[in-house]
Amino acid sequence: MTSELRDSVSTLRSKATSRTPRHFEIPKDNRGSTKRVSDYYGELTFDFKTSEDISDVIKKDIVKAIEEGKGIKKEHAEAVANAVTTWAVNNGATHFCHWFQPLTGGTAEKHDAFFQFDKHGKAIERLSAGQLMQGEPDASSFPNGGSRSTFEARGYTTWDLTSPMFLIEAVNGRTLCIPTAFVSYNGDALDIKTPLLRSISKLNTVATKFLQLTGRLETTNVQVTCGAEQEYFLIDKAFYFARPDLVMTGRTLFGALSTRNQQLEDHYFGLIPDRVLAFMQELDYELHRLGIPSKTRHNEVAPSQFELAPIFSEANVAADNNQMIMTTMKRVAEKHEMMVLLHEKPFAGINGSGKHVNWSMSDNTGFNLLEPGNEPHENLRFLATVAIIVEALHRHAKPLRMAISGAGNDHRLGANEAPPSIISAYLGDTLHKIFHAIAEDKSFTPTHNNVMDLGTNQLAHLLKDNTDRNRTSPFAFTGNKFEFRAVGSSQAIGFPMTILNAAVTEVMIEANIYLETEQALGQSVDQSLMSLTKKLTSQSFQAVFNGDGYSKEWVAEALKRGLPNLRTTPEALKTMTEKGTYDFLVKLGIFKSEEIDTRYNILLERYIKIREIELETMIDMIHQFVIPSGLEYKSVLAKVLKNQTAIGVSSQFEMDSYKKVSTKIDEIYALSQNLHKEITGAHADHQKYAEKIALELMVVSTQMATICNELEELIPNQFYSLPKYYDMLFLR
Ligand code: ADP
Ligand code: MG
Repeated sequence: MTSELRDSVSTLRSKATSRTPRHFEIPKDNRGSTKRVSDYYGELTFDFKTSEDISDVIKKDIVKAIEEGKGIKKEHAEAVANAVTTWAVNNGATHFCHWFQPLTGGTAEKHDAFFQFDKHGKAIERLSAGQLMQGEPDASSFPNGGSRSTFEARGYTTWDLTSPMFLIEAVNGRTLCIPTAFVSYNGDALDIKTPLLRSISKLNTVATKFLQLTGRLETTNVQVTCGAEQEYFLIDKAFYFARPDLVMTGRTLFGALSTRNQQLEDHYFGLIPDRVLAFMQELDYELHRLGIPSKTRHNEVAPSQFELAPIFSEANVAADNNQMIMTTMKRVAEKHEMMVLLHEKPFAGINGSGKHVNWSMSDNTGFNLLEPGNEPHENLRFLATVAIIVEALHRHAKPLRMAISGAGNDHRLGANEAPPSIISAYLGDTLHKIFHAIAEDKSFTPTHNNVMDLGTNQLAHLLKDNTDRNRTSPFAFTGNKFEFRAVGSSQAIGFPMTILNAAVTEVMIEANIYLETEQALGQSVDQSLMSLTKKLTSQSFQAVFNGDGYSKEWVAEALKRGLPNLRTTPEALKTMTEKGTYDFLVKLGIFKSEEIDTRYNILLERYIKIREIELETMIDMIHQFVIPSGLEYKSVLAKVLKNQTAIGVSSQFEMDSYKKVSTKIDEIYALSQNLHKEITGAHADHQKYAEKIALELMVVSTQMATICNELEELIPNQFYSLPKYYDMLFLR
């Protein structure tokens, strides 16, 4: 038991409010001046491409192998292994580990020492090519969704050459982390990264062809770009450990709203509190050393909610970086006596946290496919690209919704706040009108009265003028990229990006065939792009919605338009068992069909386990904290009532309060007894059980939370033994 659990809430309050910002100083250089970011940026990373200990010939050969998707030569791996060992050991590393993203959503690592004996029995530090390229963690301890039997418990991690290696620091030493993919004995992907890499590579091929067909002959490859804005809450450590729900589940399972929460909207972009700024400064320093381009930091909508955004990078690196951002945040926050909450909904009734996954594609010359461009044909290519993406979103709305599902995100999506669970795209007025005009063969008239002929650079200007943002859309066009906002704050972004890449790839393959055919029939590039756009928009613009995504009208409208509305995780996951819905992933070679089954099993089981832990924790806390607090208050009230009766006085308040607290305790006791029975119930059919949890047990748990909140409001502070929203959100 931590001391926080024994401390009274008032002790915790004084603990939290008496802390001062942690002093932290960026180290000085040799001449005694404070180092600049450019001095220490990336100092904890090793990229073979920039290493001076590897010859240019080898570097070129490895880069070529990566581009062609081939393996690298053993002696080249040996050269990298030697260089990285020297670098890591000189920088104080004693161990190395294969770092990977298992399907739990987090990261995993297995450490091995560099230390070994040479053939004379002398201790040396060494990493062999084999150790660099392949590891063999015991796969049986990671979720595999029944994809293999236990005697085949072997899984392999293989070096991902495209993401830099890095050093992690603990108090007593450093470890070299080698980013890897994780596959089972028979080659099934047991991780997030493998399918992501497959999807990036497919989209590269297809988008390169698209650009060439539309006149960009200088394009030789296309990369997916991603910048993931990370939202999070920060609360004082004292309160965190005094709330078993936060420790066990990452969210408060109940808690009465404070009178002021976010109504005044005064927190957003307001002054960053001192203790938090001190944390952010140290966090940025640590991230920059890890070569993670953290750029923006600010307050978010809710009290104690903040955001970090990096400069965008290649999608696979961005996905790795986002994992490192989440771990580094937690580690640095603890030094500041604070805890980071990455849960999508840590506080009911208060803005939740998401991860805005900004997504685009750019070619080897740096050309961004979603940049509107200056010439008419560039505008046309841009419009066709947007049309392709919207078609992909429309066609594969179910898999996209599935990819962002999870117990935590259910409290955002479809819960009447944050982005809704209906997948739609926001394009803004201007773009939307342009597409309508194209569909109807009309010219587009912008608001300032000059007819838009898609010529010169009007489009770019118009879009820049039109930067009004729609916070309610799950997928919004924001100037020169799409922003997938429905992704949850705790989720690994690699999975939703994989599905998005795949969906776009499929439509772009068809678009390429169309363009080739039309051009062969004598159409110009511009004509073929125009007719492609027209063809695509006529079908898919059902998925475009520029209005208020939180409104009831949109739910009704979406139903009319035939858009799926999968409110809960079990419903979203069930689509994985539908015939046909996921075939495109298999056809494109991004998932094997067994890998889809694997993910279905793992995600469903995860949902069930998370909810069971939540429900059990809730019942436990009601018995450990809420009911005892009520009983204490009742015994005080009883004394007053008895004394009053003794002197012949009676008053209403004490009697009413006593009765109310009594009734509420009885109600919540009954509900929790029943719920307990349901949780321990057998569940041969996981899908049915998960649906029951989502549709029935979660409703009961909401009823219970409401009663807990009523009790919290009835019981005076001095008897209430849990930190309140007021404490967690406002005291630091
Ligand atoms: P916002 O107003 O939404 O915060 P920003 O300009 O700060 O907009 O961008 C948010 C994120 O989008 C940043 O992480 C940024 O690097 C990223 N971003 C910008 N351009 C692209 C792009 N072409 N591809 C992917 N991400 C991008
Ligand atoms: Mg944004």
